[in-house]
Order: sequence, then C-alpha cells, then structure tokens
Amino acid sequence: MHRIKRQVLESIIMAAKNVYPLEFFSMLGGRNKVIEELVVVPATYGESFSSYRLDLVPFDSSIIGTVHSHPSEENYPSDADLESFSKFGEVHLIIGHPYNFNTVRAFDNKGRHVTLRVVDD
Ligand SMILES: [Zn+2]
Repeated sequence: MHRIKRQVLESIIMAAKNVYPLEFFSMLGGRNKVIEELVVVPATYGESFSSYRLDLVPFDSSIIGTVHSHPSEENYPSDADLESFSKFGEVHLIIGHPYNFNTVRAFDNKGRHVTLRVVDD
C-alpha cells in the first residue's frame, strides 16, 4: 500500500483538469511509500506519456514514481504505460477523466493494482 498526501492529490486533480483534453504528467517525490510532492519535469504536457524523456528526469533519490492523466475514463495502464512503468519508479498513478478522488488508481512497476490511501498532513 502507498499513501499520498491529500494536498498532492488535489494538485494532481487540478493539473489534470487544467490540461484536459491533453495528458498531464509528473514525477512523484516521497519516501517510505508516502507520496509527498509533485516533481514536474520539462515539456511533457500534451505528449503521450510513453514518450517522456528519461534523460530529462532529475537524478533524485526522492523520486519514487510517476503520475499521468487519461483524458478518457480508462484508468488502467496501456501497453505503452506498462513498458514505461517497468523502466523507472515503484508506484505509478493514473487518473481518469473526470478527474476526482475516485478516478485515481495506483500501480506497481509491473502494472499491478496497489492500494492508495489519502493522508492528511
Ligand atoms: Zn496512460
């Protein structure tokens, strides 16, 4: 199980809505299976998630995974997502339209669904 700070999840929801119908993408920072912050990487808005550039990812041991939005209601990983998940990180969030607390799902690096619990600071 991973945990996510409520404020971080609210930021994801807002960002996903702001770039809709494009995809929002960000890295996730945290430790001890707690997602504590968004780490936005360059030039990813509107690109397909699978095309993000690993060479632009800052080397930072606090980065534990990724989040991206799906402009459809489909909030399971695509084949391209699964390939990306396997390259990097331990937890990957997908938020499906219409973007709220109920449309976010967490997956491990093999694409298996994992429990995500929202925590208050
Ligand atoms: Zn995807």
